[in-house]
Amino acid sequence: MQRVNVTASAKPEIIVIAIDGPAGAGKSTVAKALAQKLGISYLDTGAMYRALTLKAMRAKVNLEDGAQLAQLAQRTKIEFKPTGQGLNILLDGEDVSEDIRSPEVTNNTFYSARAPEVREIMVKWQREIGQKQSVVAEGRDIGTVVFPNATKKFYLDANFEERAQRRVKELREKGKNVDEKELQKELGDRDQKDFSRKVGPLKKADDAIVIDSSGNTVDQTAEILLDYLR
Ligand code: C5P
Repeated sequence: MQRVNVTASAKPEIIVIAIDGPAGAGKSTVAKALAQKLGISYLDTGAMYRALTLKAMRAKVNLEDGAQLAQLAQRTKIEFKPTGQGLNILLDGEDVSEDIRSPEVTNNTFYSARAPEVREIMVKWQREIGQKQSVVAEGRDIGTVVFPNATKKFYLDANFEERAQRRVKELREKGKNVDEKELQKELGDRDQKDFSRKVGPLKKADDAIVIDSSGNTVDQTAEILLDYLR
């Protein structure tokens, strides 16, 4: 695998690459590919909101209650375990990589994401990770809130139809039954909630480079991002 030298200094500097954008824009696959090419870690911040939501659902916590969700977060340990292909997500030591991708968790995650008390905790954890090591971090508020001084910021987008199609393909490859119309509706709802929440909404940072990945393969998009880093 090709490695790219981002810094020429003798002491390795910590670099943070921020990738924000809507669901299905290809952030996670591109971020993984980029992290691998750069030889640095990949930070999937959406997985953190998902893991907390899964724990809250299992514990039957009232999802409407942000303060309760935040209390739960304080008693929660979320860890990332790198694998050859990406990351396994550990929730209090249990591998929940599959469970956090269920449609129920996907649709309920907005409760955790809209709670300011929860976001405060998540942002703190994410910054702690980015202070210790170089990362490619992806999410919704990475360039705007979590790492406003990131080395480079990207806003990855793609047209709605293609984003929906990518999700359909991804789920079918996992052997899931998918109703395309239903999925389009859910994606549209999620977009609307991500763009409109009061705290940490999905927003392009002023200094982010906008990349439209429509019609591109993951590798093509990763190459475009790498070109900006060279
Ligand atoms: O990226 P992913 O689709 O896994 O994120 C799941 C949800 O988590 C998003 O729809 C969004 O509501 C929330 N999220 C967030 N801030 C982030 C990452 C994800 O609010 N930085």
